[in-house]
Amino acid sequence: MVKALYMDDSYLKEWDAEVISVSNGKFIVLDKTAFFPKGGGVEWDTGVLVKEDGEEFNVIFTGKFSGEISHEVDKAGLKNNDKVSCKLDWERRYLLMRYHTATHVLSGVFFKSYNLKVTGNQLTTEKGRVDLNMEEMDVDLIKKAILKSNAIIEKKYPVEIYYKSREEAEKEPDLFKLAIGFLHDIDTIRIVDIKGFDKQADGGCHVKNLGEIGKLNFVDAVNKGKNFKRVYFTIE
Ligand SMILES: [Zn+2]
Repeated sequence: MVKALYMDDSYLKEWDAEVISVSNGKFIVLDKTAFFPKGGGVEWDTGVLVKEDGEEFNVIFTGKFSGEISHEVDKAGLKNNDKVSCKLDWERRYLLMRYHTATHVLSGVFFKSYNLKVTGNQLTTEKGRVDLNMEEMDVDLIKKAILKSNAIIEKKYPVEIYYKSREEAEKEPDLFKLAIGFLHDIDTIRIVDIKGFDKQADGGCHVKNLGEIGKLNFVDAVNKGKNFKRVYFTIE
């Protein structure tokens, strides 16, 4: 499987790569990539692949198919062994990173302060959504959790990425409290550690410091049923 460069460096924006497979003219696999594929409730990266002759191919979608990261480009023309320089739409990616780390703070607050679990999430560049296993709707509690999250963010804790063996990680069940189904290597679990606050097993892209997130705003809470409340928020 191709190494995903964003796993160890979420701030990598440009790199060189080689095309190793092309399907239907428009689905490109690269020998190395920092394009994040849609997954774990987080939207995909977009950007551009530039051939040596300068021709540009816009990446309009990134997904994971049969375990490989596949880049959908807007036109045919790339071939195996083509050398390309790759560039992310950094504005989009960075906003998704801020939303993703914000979601970890919010879910940490729900869990630690209110014993509520986030059972799903969807993050776009427009807004964040978390699903809570909250029995009865309590909008005041949700608003309080968002205020608490902002207080945590203001502490500007660093966010560190490291790996643990599965055996070691499974001794800390709280690492898996965001049951959001990222695929991990069988033996190695990637940990996103908001130092001094919360640790999660996670395969996504995060900011290096909580101070980069900004401020969370409550938007709406929707009753989707018993033990199922949906919370919308934005960041500014
Ligand atoms: Zn996550």
